[in-house]
Amino acid sequence: MGKWVYSFEEGNAGMRNLLGGKGANLAEMTNLGLPIPQGFTVTTEACTDYYASGRQISDEVREQIFAALSELEKKQGKKFGDTENPLLVSVRSGARASMPGMMDTILNLGLTDVAVEGFAKKTGNPRFAYDSYRRFIQMFSDVVMEIPKSYFERILDEIKEAKGAKFDTDLTAEDLKQVIVRFKTVYAEKMGRAFPQDPGEQLMEAVKAVFRSWDNERAIVYRRMNDIPGDWGTAVNVQAMVFGNMGNTSGTGVAFTRNPSTGEKGIYGEYLINAQGEDVVAGIRTPQPITRLEQDLPECFKQFMEIANKLEDHYRDMQDMEFTIEDGRLFFLQTRNGKRTAQAALQIACDLVDEGKISPEEAVLRIEAKSLDQLLHPTFDAEALKKGTVIGQALPASPGAAAGKVYFTAAEAKAAHEKGERVVLVRLETSPEDIEGMHASEGILTVRGGMTSHAAVVARGMGTCCVSGCGDISINEEDKVFELGGHTYHEGDYISLDGSTGKIYDGDIQTREASISGNFDRMMKWADSFRKLQVRTNADTPADAANAVKYGAEGIGLCRTEHMFFEEDRIPKIRQMILSRTLQEREKALNELIPYQKGDFKGLYEAMEGRPVTIRFLDPPLHEFVPTEQDDIDDLAVKMMMTAEEVQEICDSLHEFNPMMGHRGCRLAVTYPEIARMQTRAVMEAAIEVRAEKGYDIVPEIMIPLVGDRKELKFVKDVVVETAEAVKKEKNSDIQYHIGTMIEIPRAALLANEIAEEAEFFSFGTNDLTQMTFGFSRDDAGKFLGDYYKNKIYESDPFARLDQKGVGQLVQMAAEKGRSTRPDIKLGICGEHGGDPSSIEFCHKVGLTYVSCSPYRVPIARLAAAQAAIKQK
Ligand code: PEP
Ligand code: MG
Repeated sequence: MGKWVYSFEEGNAGMRNLLGGKGANLAEMTNLGLPIPQGFTVTTEACTDYYASGRQISDEVREQIFAALSELEKKQGKKFGDTENPLLVSVRSGARASMPGMMDTILNLGLTDVAVEGFAKKTGNPRFAYDSYRRFIQMFSDVVMEIPKSYFERILDEIKEAKGAKFDTDLTAEDLKQVIVRFKTVYAEKMGRAFPQDPGEQLMEAVKAVFRSWDNERAIVYRRMNDIPGDWGTAVNVQAMVFGNMGNTSGTGVAFTRNPSTGEKGIYGEYLINAQGEDVVAGIRTPQPITRLEQDLPECFKQFMEIANKLEDHYRDMQDMEFTIEDGRLFFLQTRNGKRTAQAALQIACDLVDEGKISPEEAVLRIEAKSLDQLLHPTFDAEALKKGTVIGQALPASPGAAAGKVYFTAAEAKAAHEKGERVVLVRLETSPEDIEGMHASEGILTVRGGMTSHAAVVARGMGTCCVSGCGDISINEEDKVFELGGHTYHEGDYISLDGSTGKIYDGDIQTREASISGNFDRMMKWADSFRKLQVRTNADTPADAANAVKYGAEGIGLCRTEHMFFEEDRIPKIRQMILSRTLQEREKALNELIPYQKGDFKGLYEAMEGRPVTIRFLDPPLHEFVPTEQDDIDDLAVKMMMTAEEVQEICDSLHEFNPMMGHRGCRLAVTYPEIARMQTRAVMEAAIEVRAEKGYDIVPEIMIPLVGDRKELKFVKDVVVETAEAVKKEKNSDIQYHIGTMIEIPRAALLANEIAEEAEFFSFGTNDLTQMTFGFSRDDAGKFLGDYYKNKIYESDPFARLDQKGVGQLVQMAAEKGRSTRPDIKLGICGEHGGDPSSIEFCHKVGLTYVSCSPYRVPIARLAAAQAAIKQK
């Protein structure tokens, strides 16, 4: 018999994989003797078993749940469904990794028509009892049975209006009884059966709902964004209820041991008197700062602070805690390492090192590499800001500056973003369904909700600027309009947000790039001392290259030379080259391009100040360069002394049915060696000149793309060598150079031992390698990948996160085969995966020399490389 259920007394913090983060921490806190409402955890294995058995809970799991429940009844001295003193429980999800707001919670479970009477008697507070029951019916219907909340909200509003009540708290016990009758009628209508009066049935349905919620759409999106595997499953925590809504000596709150936005040391959080947990997190009422608790309930505050400090010391990290005070008695409902902004993460990690609580290695592991992106986010241009008009101010929920057009729904925000607009999402409050729209937005503004509301927590996680809880806004989401500070904004009007001050501005205020220093540099220095992988950048312009150097790039791993041809003064020349009818004509056109290419390369060499620069020769199919507009075609016809029809005909003949698998990469150089000759000349002359002018020890690295055969590489290499040697001779230079290739075709990986005989280095072009291995186009896969995530065929985008199982095998094989014939071969990666932390860890493991990624990802790569090295120790 398997063990599927653990009481809190049976677990500990080390059992996170089995009990989920919440369950493991509840167990740990129980062991520490803290005031925890007792309960039990149904394991993540029970969840995976549920899915493996066709979404069924086995009898064995069910029996263990009820056995644990009876133990809990004994401990609490209460009975499930009792007429005198019923046990009520909360049922909450808790996966290995925290997924805030992504899965479901059900409170007050166990209330029935009978139990509510017992509960009213026992508490002597019928109003409270009926309020709890109506909340439960609402939550159970919504979360477990998926009956839309709005039905219930409407009824509540109607009854409030009829009774002249402003707030829910103004309703009496009798009013609430009426609410309950109407709620149950809705349930019966929608479900075709009465609201369940057997608490056992309620419990099993709730457990199932939590298991199901592991696979809801927003959880799948969250997992994809956070690299959480789909097969982990979630645990379910069943915990005796304590009540924060029993009057003015009760309350509930969320607090952090350090400020999750800035990292500043000191308790930080908020609470609501006479409320249940969901009220704080959902942002329905705007809460009080936690420090107010000191005035309201000083004894509780003192105990709360003692425990908070104890928890932080115990976990040696900033804690995010939920607590409830029931009639003057404090309970902790959960603790976890708190989510934080990147800025706060750096501050906290550095402070913990200074406080002697963690080592620099641990500090490096504490920072989520991807989150460094946030530090590189924009702020407002100071001058532009001075002229800005403040129209309101609310909570600075997530730092950064944003300016964009107002949209009122997540779907419209997403659509506008896809059209290339900058978007500010304005909502009454956000909910997890809004996640993609939030992701698509530059900034988020909410009318309701505190610093721990959904909008705030999620925006901080994403590094998206967010201002929350702006109660001064009067909004009509349906009519797509809001008013603030005497201004009216419709969909498409511009506003600007400062997520660090909470200020809201009229219009489109210019933003500026972020700057980095202090803790960031300290962390990066630690990271650099641990990492084995070098970090290069993918850059094609001196400005990008200089930026990357600022972020710590140690070289250029990929310069895509085709990007240099699209500028207005160059594109006609490359078109002439393409349309040339003879070699002489083509060489003439190419010769005109040399000064441009050479100038570009010189700029790069200068920006890189002697660091290695890998220049990849022309790669895309030529049809990408040919004109499509009639004016351009006519222009070209004049230059080429052709008719427009002739030009059109040649352009048509260049059309590729499958451009990604077409006449591109080294194939171009096989057909037109003169292109490779031109590029070699430009590279060599640039290097020789910058070397002489600046004294840098430049060794150009020429990279031939899309090779699939040794002879193919050899053919192009011979052209390069011949030209390079000729240039050296002309210039009387002894400059060295390297010639290598990209491994981006499966055949190249399979024959890497042969290819390495001709290549001094390999750079894995995992964009193409992924495309060719999966057999779908990187340009078109977006159309259907959504269906693959939805149907759980893929968990993540293979173009963003390396498919280690398939594509990774090719990388590993090619690395080994390459080394077998050339032991000192230099190995890098320059596909998008070079900036993705989990892929970087893989690159470390297979022993690559470097990763290369976009400039803004360089710090992420430095940190991820260090984390990979530390983890492997
Ligand atoms: C690649 O294929 O991974 C690569 C870096 O080259 P490109 O994206 O330019 O095809
Ligand atoms: Mg490629």
